[in-house]
Amino acid sequence: ITIADLVRESYKRIEEVDGKVQAFLTLDEERALARAEELQSKMGTDEGLLYGMPIGVKDNIVTKELRTTAASKILGNFDPIYNATVADKLHAADAITIGKLNMDEFAMGSSTENSHFAKTKNPWNLETVPGGSSGGSAAAVAAGEVPFSLGSDTGGSIRQPASFCGVVGLKPTYGRVSRFGLIAFASSLDQIGPITTNVEDNAYLLEAIAGLDPNDSTSANVDVPKYRSALTGDIKGLKVAVPKEYLGEGVSEEVRQSVREALKVLEGLGATIDEVSLPHSKYGVATYYLLSSSEASANLARFDGIRYGYRADNAENLIDLYKKTRAEGFGDEVKRRIMLGTYALSSGYYDAYYKKAQKVRTLIKQDFEKVFEDYDVIVGPTTPTPAFKIGEQIDDPLTMYANDILTIPVNLAGVPGISVPAGLSQNGLPLGLQIIGKHFDESTVYRVAHAYE
Ligand code: GLN
Repeated sequence: ITIADLVRESYKRIEEVDGKVQAFLTLDEERALARAEELQSKMGTDEGLLYGMPIGVKDNIVTKELRTTAASKILGNFDPIYNATVADKLHAADAITIGKLNMDEFAMGSSTENSHFAKTKNPWNLETVPGGSSGGSAAAVAAGEVPFSLGSDTGGSIRQPASFCGVVGLKPTYGRVSRFGLIAFASSLDQIGPITTNVEDNAYLLEAIAGLDPNDSTSANVDVPKYRSALTGDIKGLKVAVPKEYLGEGVSEEVRQSVREALKVLEGLGATIDEVSLPHSKYGVATYYLLSSSEASANLARFDGIRYGYRADNAENLIDLYKKTRAEGFGDEVKRRIMLGTYALSSGYYDAYYKKAQKVRTLIKQDFEKVFEDYDVIVGPTTPTPAFKIGEQIDDPLTMYANDILTIPVNLAGVPGISVPAGLSQNGLPLGLQIIGKHFDESTVYRVAHAYE
């Protein structure tokens, strides 16, 4: 089997299923095949960590000369002139980028229904959502179109779709992976991370993309371990904490049941399990929407019709050009966030909302630090329910926001978290187990996830 065969396999599968699943926004087979030829010639010599592996990339990660839209009309014709650091790293690891994956516009959403271009379907049941915002990234892996993909996670956007689609998705520690070239949503929360069918592949992909980057001052100068050597299967004596807030109200009974069963498995492997409390979790969603929308309102100011992408016609003057471009170029959810964020940052309201939310964020972070003084990992569900029907929550933003009630605190604290498949719901949809670790301790997260899976 040649590398070109692998690429053709991937395209064949895409041809077969993507008309229905609609995970991909941009494909370029010719380019992928040319890259396969290039890699074929170095076989046996100095092969990279992901040598010849087909990978899909979320469409908010800029890729040179490969259209990058963040699923927004405002970037509908944007062909970047540079690569995100992770795209360069994939190249250096000898992976092959197959195409760009659908998402909620600017990563705002939990169902991929906010994409300007297409609604991705959950491969397990085409009437349900794949989750979001990295819905294309999770669906493409679940449907067997690519074995690896990259997503981004600001409040749950890797873990929630991984859970809904029955695949493995990790949000790394904030600072673990460079954000250079990730189209910014909320810069203090955004992280790029790997989505795969199993934990071992996930560990390889993280190793390939992690590390300090001089182009991202928030990337951390912390050594990148060989994560795969943590996959020993041995978790004897490991201390597992289960927050009571994660099995409480709002979490469906079948989800709780699947977590209880997972805990039995971990116990059977020699881990000890205790109930703990993360008392400020209940403020997570409110805190997150204030902070992330505030940051988004500043980050999205650059889309003005002058520098990037879409520009409205028939503007009467410069201000009118900005207004028309943004009115026509952004979708409803993005506008909602910009308005909320602008309001929260405005003078007179700043102290009451933004500053207050920053303080609560610190309390949430301290909740985690306290538990991690005594425990190695925190375990709970990834989402309160399995995948819901397309259209079911789209008119109700607050219900949609509640999808991330269990993932958001992890972003606010900056710690790593993974979702691994944990059985099926009564109606045959995947459930996910979330495993959360200490800052920069992805190794232990992977160790537990691997022992469990
Ligand atoms: N669903 C959350 C939101 O809409 C999280 C999105 C994300 O992690 N990018 O903001």
